[in-house]
Amino acid sequence: MPKIPSNYMLATKENTVLEDARIFSHMTEFEHEQVMLCQDKATGLKAIIAIHNTCLGPGLGGTRFFNYRSETDALNDVLRLSRGMTYKASISGLNLGGAKAVIIGDPHKLRSEGLFRKFGRFIENLNGKYITAEDVGTTTGDMEYIQMETRHVVGLPERKGGGGDPSPVTAYGVFMGMKASAKYVYGTDSLNGKSVTVQGIGKVGWHLVEFLHKEGARIFVSDINQNRLKDAAATFNATVVEEKDIFDLNSDIFAPCAMGAILNTDSINRLKCKIVAGAANNQLEHEDIHGPLIKEKNIVYAPDFLINAGGLINVYSEHTGYNREIALGQAEKIYDTTLEILKKADDDGIHTQKAATILAENRLNIIRNVRSTI
Ligand code: NAD
Repeated sequence: MPKIPSNYMLATKENTVLEDARIFSHMTEFEHEQVMLCQDKATGLKAIIAIHNTCLGPGLGGTRFFNYRSETDALNDVLRLSRGMTYKASISGLNLGGAKAVIIGDPHKLRSEGLFRKFGRFIENLNGKYITAEDVGTTTGDMEYIQMETRHVVGLPERKGGGGDPSPVTAYGVFMGMKASAKYVYGTDSLNGKSVTVQGIGKVGWHLVEFLHKEGARIFVSDINQNRLKDAAATFNATVVEEKDIFDLNSDIFAPCAMGAILNTDSINRLKCKIVAGAANNQLEHEDIHGPLIKEKNIVYAPDFLINAGGLINVYSEHTGYNREIALGQAEKIYDTTLEILKKADDDGIHTQKAATILAENRLNIIRNVRSTI
């Protein structure tokens, strides 16, 4: 008997399914509907499409192109990310399910027209159950190749009838979530004169700072890209903060707009702000530990998957006939939903991320019931 390799799935004459990745137990644990493995030797395509839940509508989620350490890491990532999309769509009131795809490999070496078009054909085979979009490692140009083989793709450039860069809409949603949090804490949603620290002045952070500047906030910025910092300081009269000092700053609001898992025991204990509201995904390192801790510290945390949903709202609008005004109007609703969640969290004595998750699950259960009866 040949030795069974340790990655999770390889079809050979001797064995068809390798058990050590426990693909079905992961799917069962996260409650996924379907996982599709796609390969094409000619183009080097190795992709996984994970469809978590299509109760509300077709699963929409971007394609991440990343050089994963192992296929198991790729599988874990796509399962985790696709599940998050179900909650994000549900809490945002969109008729969309949760899904995501990953392409395994180095995008700089593997990127080609053939690879994306082949991937597009796999998406087409799903008959609209999965709609893809841009994500880390993929571009709007890649989406154009995918579109040559399937209609089930969004995140296209404006000249192609798409919505282009979703970051301004994401930033607007974050701004709405921040204003609602201010209303909850201070009784007014005006950010005039409030000090706001923005970590990461990338695509979203820049537009967020633009909104804050217009509103008259006092802005502090941090980024590892010095040129970006210089530009932000000059354009928005922002004060530059060193990366190491960011959690110790005496500012009213902290907006993480760089990377995830930024809210851990150390950072939360150092924070002096009253509100955390930013764009980064998965800000709480461990939801069950750091959700309660941030509440204990009396810091109002605006749930990330709610207030950064503007990007999803933008591509959803593309799916139904793009209109930026409609997308912005939908993103504006983040204000009311944030207030509802903050109130629920207080009323029920739970942390805000938990309250948001419960609301998302409630909507899923209601629609599941609606669709099961006739
Ligand atoms: P981006 O790559 O354009 O910007 C990220 C910025 O963070 C860069 O300027 C980078 O230099 C900076 N950065 C990296 N490490 C840092 C550190 N340690 N300290 C300070 N700055 C650091 O990304 P983006 O599109 O602006 O997205 C920002 C975050 O929001 C990401 O977590 C992303 O997943 C999330 N998000 C983005 C969108 C969107 O529409 N772009 C939608 C939802 C969520």
